[in-house]
Amino acid sequence: MYWDQLSSKQIAALDKNIPVLLNIAAIEQHGAHLPVATDRLIGEHFSGLLNKEMEDRVLILPIVAVGCSDHHMDFSGTLSLSHNTFAAVVKEMIQSVLHHGFYNILLLNSHGGNQGIMQVIIEQLGFANPNAHILGASWWNVAKEELLKITETGPGGTGHACEFETSLMKVIAPQLVHDSQIKQGANVWAFPSVDGDLLTGPKVSFYRTMKELTPNGVYGDPTKSSTEKGLQIGTSVTKALKGLVLEMYSLKNRKHISS
Ligand SMILES: [Zn+2]
Repeated sequence: MYWDQLSSKQIAALDKNIPVLLNIAAIEQHGAHLPVATDRLIGEHFSGLLNKEMEDRVLILPIVAVGCSDHHMDFSGTLSLSHNTFAAVVKEMIQSVLHHGFYNILLLNSHGGNQGIMQVIIEQLGFANPNAHILGASWWNVAKEELLKITETGPGGTGHACEFETSLMKVIAPQLVHDSQIKQGANVWAFPSVDGDLLTGPKVSFYRTMKELTPNGVYGDPTKSSTEKGLQIGTSVTKALKGLVLEMYSLKNRKHISS
């Protein structure tokens, strides 16, 4: 169910243990072959698939489309919020939801640059709201084992506007994928001990702009993208999200646990 499609009276009548999902995304460059809305469209795709699976057992909030994308600002079209502004928007939206009595919250993240601040948001909201369960899931992590079976590009092949994001966009909005512009990313490692991608993750934390890492804005290998992989990724991530949402139903109110 979509939060903003219901009336206030309908929302008030809902069982308050229903998991409430907020997708946090980004509007930023995705190479020459994908639109800047890619992370928003991917997030909405997964929310939509989950909504079909769960019917009235999940409640989906309006998406936070713009995220923390300072590291993409060398590329035209990128929009970015500061960490403070982004955290304030997300936290105040969730505080509104908690105010209305819901206590199972799932942040669904579709942008790598939101991961650090998502953890901070979870810790701050969790401390401020002892009754609530605040979970966060980046789609590439929540179904990692299954996704590792799908990738063909090996280390460095998935990252940004990559094998996976391009495969998903070929399913979601093929008319927005510029096939003639699909080129492999440069994948310049930040420094020798930092090797990792969307699925393997780096061993250490670091900061580099996307321009420093990859001159064409692509990190990974979109030449290996396919509609078939896009469908497989959709199935795997939806299954993992469904499992997570069903688990959330069995969570007891935290205050209840500690008392
Ligand atoms: Zn992306």
